Amino acid sequence: MTYATLSELRAQLDSGAQTACSLAEAYLERVQALNAELNAFVHIDADEVLEQAAASDTYRASHGPRPLEGLPIAIKDIFCTQDGPTQCCSNILKGYRAPYDAHVITRLKEAGAVLFGKTNMDEFAMGSSNETSAFGPCRNPWDTTRIPGGSSGGSACAVAAGMAPAALGTDTGGSIRQPAALCGITGLKPTYGRVSRRGIIAFASSLDQAGPMTRSVEDTALLASVMCGHDSADATSVADAPEVDWLGACAARDMKGLKIGRPREYFIDGMDAGVLQAVEEAIETCRELGAEVIDVSLPHTPAAVAAYYVIAPSEASANLSRYDGVRFGHRCEAPEDLLDMYTRTRDEGFGAEVKRRILTGSFALSSGYYDAYYLKAQKVRTLIRQDFLQAFAQVDVLLTPTSPVTAFHIGEKTDDPLTMYLADVFTIALNLAGLPGLSQPCGFADGLPVGLQWIAPAWQEDRILAAASAYEAATDWLSQTPATGGN
Ligand code: GLN
Repeated sequence: MTYATLSELRAQLDSGAQTACSLAEAYLERVQALNAELNAFVHIDADEVLEQAAASDTYRASHGPRPLEGLPIAIKDIFCTQDGPTQCCSNILKGYRAPYDAHVITRLKEAGAVLFGKTNMDEFAMGSSNETSAFGPCRNPWDTTRIPGGSSGGSACAVAAGMAPAALGTDTGGSIRQPAALCGITGLKPTYGRVSRRGIIAFASSLDQAGPMTRSVEDTALLASVMCGHDSADATSVADAPEVDWLGACAARDMKGLKIGRPREYFIDGMDAGVLQAVEEAIETCRELGAEVIDVSLPHTPAAVAAYYVIAPSEASANLSRYDGVRFGHRCEAPEDLLDMYTRTRDEGFGAEVKRRILTGSFALSSGYYDAYYLKAQKVRTLIRQDFLQAFAQVDVLLTPTSPVTAFHIGEKTDDPLTMYLADVFTIALNLAGLPGLSQPCGFADGLPVGLQWIAPAWQEDRILAAASAYEAATDWLSQTPATGGN
């Protein structure tokens, strides 16, 4: 049952076959059984979960169900929640309690969801493997010697292992889509500006966006319909964003006549042969479903990783200056003076990868280097955006692999940050362009899940949902579950 989709669970709640309390108990049991091995959750308080579930059952009895009534949703440790700690998996925020709920959390609560614990992630969302977490690595349920992807690794693992039916993630350069791909689930990064960033701990403000991580495309649409919406308290949340009929788009399950672009820069030497094969077969399936597949080019793709790894650390270096031992979290013992407090607090509180980002970002922004690095990266960003605009003049959506490789072994890339960064080659460009992207399962290579990535023009998430749900219905990847913990 814990592998059921949100829509299946909703039907069970509506028919009375389950209550919010019985569901919460079943998932808590599953977490109890698996979390010591997988390390997907860094905090979960059974009493808090059951209290919310009981309140939901009471609400349903008197008012009827809201859109997510009684459904347990796991929350990445980057979202501020009034209940429980919000630590961004960093020692600098150990024990930190947020004074308010993130906008997205408020929307979830108003829709009747049961907040189901905090999930593991790379420290401050900086990473692609969940190995930079101060709480230790999370493991991939398909092979526990491997990483689940990152930074939203705990959320992906929780859903893939049936420890939660759905989870929230954030995506700055692929952190929803890449772990979704590596764990065999579905995840959507909406158009930049569709989801409020208020109360989501900032990494790179011009790139960060929250989104759903679920089993099915329909569940992604359901959760997105609750998460998305204008917030006047976040200046980057767009007030007049074109509306999407989230569930209607899914119900269409149609890609007849759809023009799919196959960007040649996303099918490169060095990617796993098994990934290539699974994605090529998926493209063939789309053709059979009536889509027209057209070769396109996004010529500036090879510069995307370099531009991102200048822009994101630059923004991070500014955002993370607030952790100074004065206002948030950790403060060093017995500082000699103010400078000593700042230096030792930050030295003790931040992990190696976060320090690396702060150093490179500060360097790129420093006078004398600003033009050569930051400004140059911004110009590349404009070229990347223009590549997409030109491609979308010819096609409706783009279809690519999500990651060039399947889940790698824990420890395999930790000594070489550059190879780790290169694993983001297919997810980063669309963050730089602000576009929506979805990853869904499209098969296996050597027993490990492979992800298929759909990219649409800004605000056209409905095109992605219609196509992805048609593909999902034509295949049986949704029913595949890992052996870990039993099925
Ligand atoms: N892996 C990328 C990074 O390390 C993306 C992370 C993210 O999307 N939060 O920056």
